[in-house]
Amino acid sequence: MKFNTKTIHGGQEHDKAYGAVMPPIYQTSTYAQSTPGGHKGYEYSRTHNPTRNALENAFASIENGQYGLAFGSGLAAIDAVIKLLKPGDEVISTNDLYGGTYRLFTKVFEDFGIKFHFIGMENADKVESFVNENTKLIWAETPTNPMMNIIDIRALSKVAKKHNLLLGVDNTFATPYLQRPLDLGADIVMHSATKYLGGHSDVVIGALVVKDEELAERLYFIQNASGAICGPQDSFLVLRGIKTLHVRMQRHCENGKAVAEYLENHPKIEKVYWPGFESHPNHDVAKKQMDDFGGMISFVTKGNDYDEAIRIVENLKIFTLAESLGGVESLAGHPASMTHASIPKEEREKTGVLDSLIRLSVGIEDASDLIADLEQAIG
Ligand SMILES: *Cc1c(COP(=O)(O)O)cnc(C)c1O
Repeated sequence: MKFNTKTIHGGQEHDKAYGAVMPPIYQTSTYAQSTPGGHKGYEYSRTHNPTRNALENAFASIENGQYGLAFGSGLAAIDAVIKLLKPGDEVISTNDLYGGTYRLFTKVFEDFGIKFHFIGMENADKVESFVNENTKLIWAETPTNPMMNIIDIRALSKVAKKHNLLLGVDNTFATPYLQRPLDLGADIVMHSATKYLGGHSDVVIGALVVKDEELAERLYFIQNASGAICGPQDSFLVLRGIKTLHVRMQRHCENGKAVAEYLENHPKIEKVYWPGFESHPNHDVAKKQMDDFGGMISFVTKGNDYDEAIRIVENLKIFTLAESLGGVESLAGHPASMTHASIPKEEREKTGVLDSLIRLSVGIEDASDLIADLEQAIG
C-alpha cells in the first residue's frame, strides 16, 4: 500500500457491529465479562480501548512500523521511552531540542540518575565520541526547532547499531509524509500528534512506533503501568486528521516554499532558515532523507531588533501569534519572548535564537494571502 492510501486505510477495518466506516468512539472505561476473564479482548480502557487501538494501528502503518502506541501527549510518549532506562544510564541528544523535552530530561529524569549529553548532531563521528559503556539511547530531532538543522538519521543509526544502542527520532516536524525514520534505521519514532498528524489544533496526543516485538512489549507494559494514555474522543480526532495528512502536507510544502522564497528576497530580512534552500548547511542530507522540505520556516531581520520582531508578529493578521505548529492555519511565534524566554540571552544566542528570530508554521491557506500578510506586517 502506498503512503497516500495508508493514511486513509492503513491498519483500519470496518466496525464489526454495524459496519460504521469510521471507528466508533468507545467512550467506556470498562467492558462486560460473561465469566471472570471471559471478554472480547478488552477489559479496562487504560490497557486497551478499540478507538485508541484503531489510532495505534494507523500510527504503525504510516510510519512503516509494526506496533503503535498512543499517549496523552507527545511528552508522555517521550516519558515512556526514558522509562526503558535505569539509573546510571546515559542518553545522547541534540542541543537544540524541543524545550519541553529538554525540561523533561533535565528537570525530571536527571533526578532519577539518568545522564543526558546535549550536543550538535550534524556529525555522526562527534556523536560516537560521546558513547561510553553506560550509553543506552540516542534521541534525535530533525528538522530541529526553531533553527531547522537537519541530522542524518542513517548515519546515527550506524553508530547506534555498532554500539548496540537504541535510536529514537522525534518526527513531529517532518511527519512520515516527508521522512520515515524506521526505514532509515531508527528503533523508535515519536510524534507530538498534537501537531501535523492531528493537523487541526484541536487535540493533544503523542505517539510511538516501533518494529521490534520485544521493544514494543516493554513499551506497552510502561504505557499500561504508568497510564499516560489518551481518551477515545481525542483518538478519534487524530484518526480523522491522519486521513488528510498527505493532502495537507503537500500544501504545507508548496506554501512553505513560496513563503521561504518570498522572505529570502525581502530587503529587510537577514537570513531565512529552511532546509529546501541549496545554501542550507545540511541541504544534501535533507534532500537524501526527506521527500520535500515542509512548512516550518524561521527568519531573522536585518539589525536584529527585538522590538521590531515583536511589532511584526503583532501586526500579522492571517498568521496567528501562538505556540504550537502543524495545524491547517498559519501560526507565528517569537522564540526569544515565548518558547525560549526562560533561557538566558547568551545561551539562546549560541544556538542561533536571536532577538529578532521569528518562527512560522505555514498553513494551507492561499499562499498569496500569506505573503500579502507578511508584506504588510514587515513593511
Ligand atoms: C510539541 C512538541 C513536542 C511535545 O508534544 P506535546 O504533544 O505538546 O506534549 C515534542 N517534540 C516536538 C518537536 C514538538 O513540537
